[in-house]
Amino acid sequence: MTKYYCEYCGSTASSVAALVAASCPRHPASAFKGKHKLYDGTEKAQYTCKFCGTKAPSIATLIASDCQRHPDGAFKGKHAPALH
Ligand SMILES: [Zn+2]
Ligand SMILES: [Zn+2]
Repeated sequence: MTKYYCEYCGSTASSVAALVAASCPRHPASAFKGKHKLYDGTEKAQYTCKFCGTKAPSIATLIASDCQRHPDGAFKGKHAPALH
């Protein structure tokens, strides 16, 4: 079954509609200030941070830790999954 992921928090849903209908606890504007955002890359065995190249086995694991190359400053934000 295809699963759809949120790019911000790693939440999964069985349909895009279900995913983007729910508020995201890690929305960049502020927690629950917006909806989940569909991660429209392919499902992978490993996810890579688009800023620093760190790899993790899931989006949720990747975005749980601070990124040393975050655009807002070192460790000012979390890793973000690259789409490809
Ligand atoms: Zn989310
Ligand atoms: Zn990173």
